[in-house]
Amino acid sequence: MKLRQLEMQLQKIRGFSCPSVDVEQYMTPAPLAARMIFHAAMNGDIVGAHVCDLGCGTGMLSIGAALLGAKVTAVDVDPTALAIARENAELFGCDITLIEACIGDVNLDITTDTVVMNPPFGAQKEHADRPFIDASLAIAPICYAILNAGSISFVAAYTKDRANIVESISAKLNIPKQFTFHTKESLDISVEIVHLERTL
Ligand code: SAH
Repeated sequence: MKLRQLEMQLQKIRGFSCPSVDVEQYMTPAPLAARMIFHAAMNGDIVGAHVCDLGCGTGMLSIGAALLGAKVTAVDVDPTALAIARENAELFGCDITLIEACIGDVNLDITTDTVVMNPPFGAQKEHADRPFIDASLAIAPICYAILNAGSISFVAAYTKDRANIVESISAKLNIPKQFTFHTKESLDISVEIVHLERTL
């Protein structure tokens, strides 16, 4: 499947019915999701691999990876989001294992080849991204994460001696108005697609 085809498929994914601001529920826009998953696939980290999506939401990254030939496990704290992820996966005929768990509170009993994630940036709960980085390094040697552009130097320091930043690709993440405190119709925020490789 070509990048454009993947993006068109992912446009069909249903988002959060009632997004929660506390756990920073923002669906990754299809173009950005397709770009990250396709890039990871070109690196040999998706096709035929076991991929785990941490904070899967309604399944955007999970389904992208499954459509390119990964065996996918998806984890989220929110059962409502997981129910929509199940419906989305069924729509695409993807067989995805869904797990309800709070990253940071439980150790995930998973070993996987690749983690993909668009974790909370920590806008609501300071350092909410840290347990995601820790969980990712605990379960997989490779991680692709969508992170706030401003956090790269922190990530480098936080993962020092545990992982290398193989590459960091600048991108925009469009957030449509979805919460009352959003004053604009939509907002483009600068993000980085960060590719981490565990060193331990
Ligand atoms: N990966 C999805 C959703 C991104 S929004 C996508 O790309 O569209 C972040 C997701 O992380 C939300 O679904 C939220 O419910 C989940 N989340 C936030 N904190 C969590 C935690 N501690 N444990 C598990 N999931 C969490």
